Amino acid sequence: MLRFYIALWAAKLFYFINKLIGRARDDRPGLLAFKICPDFLARIGKPKLMITITGTNGKTTTSALINSYLKEQGLRVSFNDWGANLHAGYCLNLMRCVNIFNKVTKMDASVLEADEKTLAHTMGMIKPHYVLVTNISKDSLRRNGHPEYIFDCVEKCFEKLGADTTAILNANDPISSELARNTGAKRVFYGMDDIGSNPFENMVKDIAVCPRCGGELKYNYRQYRHIGDYYCADCDFKTKDAKFYATKVDLKARTMDILEDGETTTYPLISETIFNAFNVLSAAAALRTMGYEKASLAEFFERQKVTEIRETCVKYKGKEFHTYGAKSQNVSAASTVFEYMAKEKSDKIVVLCMDEVQDKNHPTETLTWLYETDFEFLNSPNIKQIVVAGHMYLNHRLRLMLAGVDPNKIAACEDESKVADLVDFSQDFEKLYVLFEIDYVTKGRNWRDAIVEKAKEVM
Ligand SMILES: [Zn+2]
Repeated sequence: MLRFYIALWAAKLFYFINKLIGRARDDRPGLLAFKICPDFLARIGKPKLMITITGTNGKTTTSALINSYLKEQGLRVSFNDWGANLHAGYCLNLMRCVNIFNKVTKMDASVLEADEKTLAHTMGMIKPHYVLVTNISKDSLRRNGHPEYIFDCVEKCFEKLGADTTAILNANDPISSELARNTGAKRVFYGMDDIGSNPFENMVKDIAVCPRCGGELKYNYRQYRHIGDYYCADCDFKTKDAKFYATKVDLKARTMDILEDGETTTYPLISETIFNAFNVLSAAAALRTMGYEKASLAEFFERQKVTEIRETCVKYKGKEFHTYGAKSQNVSAASTVFEYMAKEKSDKIVVLCMDEVQDKNHPTETLTWLYETDFEFLNSPNIKQIVVAGHMYLNHRLRLMLAGVDPNKIAACEDESKVADLVDFSQDFEKLYVLFEIDYVTKGRNWRDAIVEKAKEVM
């Protein structure tokens, strides 16, 4: 017990100093607490509402929505909004909820965006009241291995939590909807009707066969990738019945009708993409399950936009210059963004800023994602030019050529400072997208701004 208090006080002092010098978004106080007391998370006092959001894609946006809504309801919410979704981040998150005597006096709720792999150990100690899983999809092979492995990691978490938690799950995901079947947890599903999104076929599937019998997995319809209305030809495995069911989604008008216990409510959407419609749907399902009012939720979503970090736009001479977060290495996320580039009808130039920091030291280890990601989607007539800069430029160029992209459409160089020189402004384009690896928010913007400056010179 003494060790716990030493950890708590040391972390509090460290955090206090960090706040004074403007470094409140530093995880190290949490790391220190964990180093001094390995079961810090089990011993720390817990706020009366704790929700964990995990899954391959969409957890950041969904967590941010839930956090903002709870704050607007007057709750004091501890939220690790700088992506500290590991042990140290949780320690810091919960440490901020308690006073020096470990009494929960400072916060009413904790929103924990959580990494899938380490979930069982950490959440087993934290014991959140709700665990929302957005989806399980193909991610970085290096970091996350295979979706089946990630499923096992998340399932272990539910096994530890037992009947004390409510699982909020995506009925349309044949992988994550199988979670917590026999763990005693209450399961609440959200799902979506066919909205005619007609997704492209992916080269590498997130799930190949029925997870129960190994039979052939079939679809009545898909929304994107493996998310859709599925069934097994050989057993009774099929899409679960959803308590929160989106019956109509109008992406252009940005509205979604959700049927809940026989009553339909229209909710505004935060963007025009199908995956953000799922983010709103999952956040609404979670907040409704917690008992919040439909009307106040609808009013809240009306005022939300996709986080500026992920998508920003500058206009010059009638053309739009966007930055757009794309997560390199994450096969499902990158493919989905490439599909969006093809489907979003405007004539465009696509600039790839997708090399990871780690790649620089181990470039030969991380090529696999290029060949599991659907670069084929970028071979689309509305994409007029593809620009690549960075130390992996030749790998990107080769992959694009193997995807059938005309080499004359590809401009690539190693020196990132020359990216603006590669853009062909004589092309007839309406939009330019800098697709940036999500750790490179600033770099993505710098590239875009350099391109806009160049446009001002030559256009
Ligand atoms: Zn089956």
